Amino acid sequence: ARRNPDEPEFQQAVLEVLDDLSPALTRHPEYAEQRILERLCEPERQLMFRVPWRDDQGQVHINRGFRVEFNSALGPYKGGLRFHPSVDLGVIKFLGFEQIFKNALTGMNIGGGKGGSDFDPKGRSDAEIERFCQSFMTELHRHLGEHTDVPAGDIGVGAREIGYLFGQYRRLANRWEAGVITGKGLEWGGSRVRTEATGYGSVLFTQRMLERVGKALDGQRVVVSGSGNVAIYSVEKAQHLGATVVACSDSAGYVVDDKGLDLDLLKQIKEVERERISVYAERRVGARYVEGGSVWDVPCDVALPSATQNELDADAARVLVRNGVIAVAEGANMPTTPEAVQVLREAKVLFGPGKAANAGGVATSVLEMRQNARRTSWSFQHAESELAETMSDIHDRCEEAAERYGAPGDYVLGANVAGFERVASAMLAQGLI
Ligand code: NDP
Repeated sequence: ARRNPDEPEFQQAVLEVLDDLSPALTRHPEYAEQRILERLCEPERQLMFRVPWRDDQGQVHINRGFRVEFNSALGPYKGGLRFHPSVDLGVIKFLGFEQIFKNALTGMNIGGGKGGSDFDPKGRSDAEIERFCQSFMTELHRHLGEHTDVPAGDIGVGAREIGYLFGQYRRLANRWEAGVITGKGLEWGGSRVRTEATGYGSVLFTQRMLERVGKALDGQRVVVSGSGNVAIYSVEKAQHLGATVVACSDSAGYVVDDKGLDLDLLKQIKEVERERISVYAERRVGARYVEGGSVWDVPCDVALPSATQNELDADAARVLVRNGVIAVAEGANMPTTPEAVQVLREAKVLFGPGKAANAGGVATSVLEMRQNARRTSWSFQHAESELAETMSDIHDRCEEAAERYGAPGDYVLGANVAGFERVASAMLAQGLI
């Protein structure tokens, strides 16, 4: 804490991992000798830069840009960019730190990194977004490359922003280097299923957890938080698997639709019109909107927090348990507070941590890079079956590690240990750097 003051989210993410690692360190004294943990907690490089841009009225704005290149022992830095007013160095460091373990868990060759800006895209015109993205990339481009650092989207950065960012990179580098960024449009190097991957993956992970205890998603009542990229495709996959998704939210409130959410309407409002979730209740008979409040008050069997960090606290967890929740999987990064995780663990609720449950997005990004390298493009079906296999492997890696360390069914411990072992052994093999 002394070394990283004013970075509560980063401290939280580190403590959460360290808590689970002592048995692994006892088993591997060489990790302690080589100070692997201290090295892991210190980013290899962190960049902060000015992002000046002009709004539609000609006014000048100055934002701050970040890229934390955390660890490249397993491959080029890989992790998304977040545009949200709450972004600061501590938030980017927490996300970058988690990304190291998540990427290790995929079994693929990618290191961990994360970036973004405190820019608020809400209410900005297309032209303003374009100018901001161009200014942001004007500085960032010199640090990127398909073998160096490969960003993608996150909160506030979707297909539109990736387009502007890639365009500016291509112009500055004078090179059409598809592998430098993922989440691209299908016509210019993108992969089928990348848009759906994080949400689909978190639901597939949930399905695997349920199967392990002889249950399935079919017939379950599901609540999802958020209504962005991860939330929408979690709804879609849960519906495909026979669940009824009865609620979703945004930062202003939530909607409840007991008949099950109308996915086409949800996509129209969020993806096409970029409107607030309250509009859903205005247009859908039988649905209601609750301003403020907690979406976790809506009774469900399965909860999928898919909005942002620390959105599900101990009180919310108690409500979920009281209402009989059987599984919780984190579509978002660190949405469940440590106290809430404790409540869920004690109540024996199946709990999929974000590092494992939401790794489908980054895994499909690697599939995108593979297609780019081979100058090919897979069908939806092929990309989706690769995703399903990856999620199943991630699940099994967590399960295996949890068993090996005497905590069967503890996916938090399993994810932390399995991710750590892979990065630590690569760091050890590569010497003191
Ligand atoms: P989007 O920007 O598409 O959507 C974010 C959603 O979360 C919006 O509905 C937004 O509501 C809501 N939200 C954001 N901040 C808050 C807040 N402070 N309180 C309540 N709701 C909030 O982002 P994504 O769907 O891409 O990302 C969601 C989460 O998933 C993040 O934690 C991200 O790191 C994680 N993730 C994303 C991946 C991806 O591939 N996209 C991969 C792995 C993890 P509003 O519009 O009101 O702000």
